[in-house]
Amino acid sequence: MQPHREEVHGLSSVVHASLPFAIPRHMSFVLHGIGVSGGIAIGRAQLVSHATLEVAHYSITPAQVPGEIERLTQALKAVQKELESLRGAMTAGDAPAEFGAFLDVHWMILTDPVLREMPKRTIAEQLCNAEWALTQQLSVLVEQFESIEDPYLRERKADVVQVVERVLKVLMGNPGNVGPANAEEHTILVAHDLSPADVIQFKNHHFAAFLTDLGGVTSHTAIVARSLNVPAVVATHNARALIRENELLIVDGGRNVVIVNPDRSVLAEYRVKQDELELERQKLRRLRTTPATTLDGCRVELMANIELPEDLEQAIENGAAGVGLFRTEFLFLNRDGLPSEDEQFEAYRAVASGMKGHPVTIRTFDLGADKHKEGLDGLSRVAPNPALGLRAVRFCLAEPRLFLTQLRAILRASHYGQVKILLPMLSSVGEIEQALALISQAKESLREQRAKFDPGVEIGGMIEIPAAVLSIGAFTTRLDFLSIGTNDLIQYTLAVDRADDAVSQLYDALHPAVIKLIALAIATANKAEVPIAVCGEMAGEARLTRLLLGMGLTNFSMHPAHLLSIKQRVLASDIGVAKPIVGRMRRTDEPAKLVALLEKLNAG
Ligand code: PEP
Ligand code: MG
Repeated sequence: MQPHREEVHGLSSVVHASLPFAIPRHMSFVLHGIGVSGGIAIGRAQLVSHATLEVAHYSITPAQVPGEIERLTQALKAVQKELESLRGAMTAGDAPAEFGAFLDVHWMILTDPVLREMPKRTIAEQLCNAEWALTQQLSVLVEQFESIEDPYLRERKADVVQVVERVLKVLMGNPGNVGPANAEEHTILVAHDLSPADVIQFKNHHFAAFLTDLGGVTSHTAIVARSLNVPAVVATHNARALIRENELLIVDGGRNVVIVNPDRSVLAEYRVKQDELELERQKLRRLRTTPATTLDGCRVELMANIELPEDLEQAIENGAAGVGLFRTEFLFLNRDGLPSEDEQFEAYRAVASGMKGHPVTIRTFDLGADKHKEGLDGLSRVAPNPALGLRAVRFCLAEPRLFLTQLRAILRASHYGQVKILLPMLSSVGEIEQALALISQAKESLREQRAKFDPGVEIGGMIEIPAAVLSIGAFTTRLDFLSIGTNDLIQYTLAVDRADDAVSQLYDALHPAVIKLIALAIATANKAEVPIAVCGEMAGEARLTRLLLGMGLTNFSMHPAHLLSIKQRVLASDIGVAKPIVGRMRRTDEPAKLVALLEKLNAG
C-alpha cells in the first residue's frame, strides 16, 4: 500500500500525491495511522533502528577493513562474555537445567567459525560494514537450516537467529539505538516496529510521542505505549521511511494523524488545542476522590492496569480503587536471565503495600507471542503460530519450576496487602486444576519454611478465549473471581491477530459475536455470584462504558490515564436506561443496527 501523502493547508488538508519517495526537504505532509494513545505532541523526530529489521548497509574503504573486523570481533567477545556470565549465574541459581543446555547451544553457535570467520571475509571482500556482513551470513545459515530434514536440528535455526540478534544489538549500540535517558522532552520516536519490550524501556526516557509503521490498536506495544501516557500513532505504514531525522512533527493521537513539517498556522492551531486538552485534564482531576456511582445509585469499581511497580504512582494519582491487572511479564523483559524469587517478591510487595489495603490483582506471567523473552526455549518467536502456542498459563504449566518461583513470590507478598492471583489464558478445566495444584504446592513449601502469606488469597482466571466463555460454569465453580481480557477475546473470537495492522480493520470490539460472548460471561458470573471484571482495553473506552454497565458489569480495570474520563462517564450513566438498549444489542447480528443502538445508548 502506498502511503497517504497530503499537503497541509491549515487544518483542512488536500490529498496531493501518493508517491512515497523523493519528498523535498521541509515539505509539509500528513501521515495517517491508528492513534493508540490520545493527546497532542509537538516535537522533533528521532529515528529508531532496530536489530535485524533495519540493518544498515554501507561501504567502507580498504583501509577501514581492519577496524570493521575489530568491531565485529569485540561484539562477538561481548556476547560470549554475556553468555558465560549468564551460564555462571544459572549454575548458582535455581533455574531449570534446560536453560543451561540452551545457553550451551548458543555458546556453541557463537564460537563456531561459520559465524566468527565468514562475516570477516565478507567485510574484506565486499568492503561492507560488520552488521551487513553478519546478516548476510545469517541468511545463508537460515537457508541451510530450513533444508534440514531432522525437525530438532531444523528448529535450531531460531537459536542461530537469536545469537545473531544479540551480536547485532551490541554492534548497533544496544538497546535499539534509542537516545539517552534524559532525552529531550520534545523528541518524537519514529520506528518501523517496536516490541513491547522496546517500549517498556522508554519508561525511563522522556519522549513526547511515538510513531510506528506497524502495530494494532490492542497490541501489547500499543498498550505499553498508552502506559507512557504520551500520544502514539501506530500502523502509519511509511513513517520510518518518509520522516527524516530532526524534522518537526505534530502527533495527534486522537485524530490518528501525524503532520510532518507543519506550517506556522497549523502549528499555532495545535498549540491552542494542546492548551485546551490540558484544561480538560485539569477539570477531570477534580473527580479523583469522587466515588464512581451511576445516576441510579450503583457503585462501580474502577481499577488500574499496571506493567511495573513504578506505574503505581499514576494509578494512585488518578484515584484507582485498586490494581485490577498487574502484567508481571514485563518484569521478565529487557534483562539478562530471570528475576529471582526475592526480586519478584520485592516488586509484588511494593505494589501490595503501596495500595494500602486496596486489592492488587497480580496476573501470573503471560509470556509468549509478542511478549518474547530471549533465552526461554519454549517461547520460540518462530513457533508456527505463537499466539496459539505455548503462551501464558500454558507456558507456566510446561515450566512448573519457573511458575512455582513466581507463585511463591506472589504468595509471600500477600502478607503485605490484599493480593489476588490471576491466571491468564485459561481454556480448560484441566489447566485450572493443574494451576490450582501448583498454587497449593507453593503454599505448602512456604508453610514448611514458616514463611508468612495469606492462606485465603483469592485465585481468579482470565476469560480471553471463546472456549472459556462457553464453558464458564466450570470456571465459576473453581475460581474466586474472573476477569475478561477483551483484547485477546476479540483476537481469538474473530481470528484477527491483535498486533497485525494488515488486519486491524477486522479487529472489532463491536462485532456481534464479541458482544454476545462478553454479555454471556458477565451474566453467568453475576448469576453465580462470582465477581467479574473487564481488564482489556474496552474497559478504558468511554464510548463502551454504558454498554458494559448495561451488561451488568460493575468492575472495570484500565490504564490509569483513562480512570477519570471513565469515572465521568459512569457518573453520567443510568443503568436502568442502558439495560433495555443493551439487551437489544445482545440480540442483533446486524453490525449497522449495533452501531445505531450504541449511538442511542450514548446519546444524552
Ligand atoms: C486482554 O487480553 O484483554 C488482557 C487484558 O491481557 P493482555 O492485553 O495483557 O493480553
Ligand atoms: Mg490477554
